Amino acid sequence: MLIDSHCHLEYEGLVEDQDGVLDRARSAGIRGFLNISTRRSEWERVVGTAARYPDVWASVGIHPHEADQHADLGEAALLEATQHAKVVGIGETGLDYYYDKSDREVQQALFRTHITVSRKTGLPLIIHTRDAEDDTFRILEDEMGKGAFPALIHCFTASADFGSKVLDLGLSISISGIVTFKNAQDLQRVVATIPEDRLLVETDSPFLAPVPHRGKRCEPAYTADTARFVADLRGISIEELGSATTRNFFNLFKKAAA
Ligand SMILES: [Zn+2]
Ligand SMILES: [Zn+2]
Repeated sequence: MLIDSHCHLEYEGLVEDQDGVLDRARSAGIRGFLNISTRRSEWERVVGTAARYPDVWASVGIHPHEADQHADLGEAALLEATQHAKVVGIGETGLDYYYDKSDREVQQALFRTHITVSRKTGLPLIIHTRDAEDDTFRILEDEMGKGAFPALIHCFTASADFGSKVLDLGLSISISGIVTFKNAQDLQRVVATIPEDRLLVETDSPFLAPVPHRGKRCEPAYTADTARFVADLRGISIEELGSATTRNFFNLFKKAAA
């Protein structure tokens, strides 16, 4: 039993055949799916898909790539969108200085808006961070000081140092198929040491297909390949990894458990 904590079911590659995609995943033992938003124009579809399937939940938020187009998104709009019963998380939000598709100041301001809404609703923040460890940590630490909020670093690829710092802040960490890549030895070492009660798995599909599907379009069924790899890294069974990560998902995304 596994949960894909991060997939984009509205993206090209998955949206054309959501029924088939979800059925293949269920056959591979995936029992739940968190359908992630990246821009406001997508929220209705992301939430609509979650409303259609009992095992799909939704997040609302703005990806850092899209920050410039949402510079005036107020707290109120985000807050209102979280009211839907199937919206269980906020994001993906965060900072991406690798692609720098949006102004860094705007990314940071919008990240803080998401944090405020997370604190107000108690819904966990789904954080995307790339080449932006220092600013991500600085903002998280600063905002935690104003009042705690639940949060997850998605598709974790950061350093061991960043990992231990965010774990100290109380965050959870979700692992994508990148961990299965040959050149991911540093990441593999970090993943082996994440506390068992803070670990989640995801695909970030349609991107980042794990080995042995690397290079192909990724889909939620491949959560099982990543989970098997992570279980091997940690020297535990896939069943044990599955029950721990599923328990962690529902502990963090409490609204999905309700
Ligand atoms: Zn992301
Ligand atoms: Zn994503």
